[in-house]
Amino acid sequence: MKPIQWFPGHMSKTRRLIKENLKKVDVVVEILDARAPESSRNPIIDELTGDKPRLVVLNKSDLADPIVTGQWMDYFASPEQHRLPVEVSSKSGQNLGSIAKGCRTLCEGAKWLSRRPVRAMIVGIPNVGKSTVINALAGRKKAAVGNKPGLTRDMQRLEVSPNLQIYDTPGILWPKFEDQAIGYKLALLGSIKDTILVLDEITTKGLEYMAVHYPDRIKDRYSLETLPDDTMELIEEIGRRRGCLMSGGVIDYEKAINLFLLDLRQGKLGRFSLETPGEERSFFSETIRE
Ligand code: GDP
Repeated sequence: MKPIQWFPGHMSKTRRLIKENLKKVDVVVEILDARAPESSRNPIIDELTGDKPRLVVLNKSDLADPIVTGQWMDYFASPEQHRLPVEVSSKSGQNLGSIAKGCRTLCEGAKWLSRRPVRAMIVGIPNVGKSTVINALAGRKKAAVGNKPGLTRDMQRLEVSPNLQIYDTPGILWPKFEDQAIGYKLALLGSIKDTILVLDEITTKGLEYMAVHYPDRIKDRYSLETLPDDTMELIEEIGRRRGCLMSGGVIDYEKAINLFLLDLRQGKLGRFSLETPGEERSFFSETIRE
């Protein structure tokens, strides 16, 4: 998948296209990565959707810490703002039915509801699982694989059920750029092209985060009885256990840290979340290795 490069012209065009298309739907389905729901939100989604009912889908919940996802579910529930959260795993299909059900709930009371299906549009930043959600909902009717910002004009409506229609092309929005902590989290999750950021430093920070928040996972995965306080020592231990060695038996730090990153992204370290609602300061805001 080619990375999407956002620049101001792109962003205003996308904003315009999505606003236009929003007029044709009843509900906006905002897809987020359950492991970092706040960081994977588009910064202007509230402005874009206005008072249109919105289903907030915490996708990839199979990879996220279930306790933290529960906190996010409470956080996003806002009946007075016509906002409803659901947690799903579009890859395994788990709880997918909650999307159609939630869309209908959001439209309760509308006069047309007994006459026609709810029309919904899926939006979100790259890599949160928009296409996977569309394909899972639509079954054999494949979603157009869009890799351009915004969305095409000739979208088709797919019949998910007699109660729900969705557009076959998702609205691709830009991520938040302003906060480096957000960039780090998205990079760890593999949502930002790797070369954009100093990945080994970010990964080191990710390892520190996991060692603090989920120490037993690190111990189990790398067969460690205790976790050294010093991060470089920890990387060395991981490298030693997993045979990341250069000639002469010297530990290959880069290989060890890459191995950890792969394990993290592939869910080999278990389910984790990178942020909780209402956090004053992110772990990832602290200076990365001085
Ligand atoms: P999009 O850019 O938002 O359309 O994202 P994609 O649908 O292309 O998904 C990005 C990556 O996340 C793909 O590798 C998917 O297989 C994976 N993915 C999507 N949804 C889930 C999910 O619920 N669970 C897991 N484990 N992976 C998912």
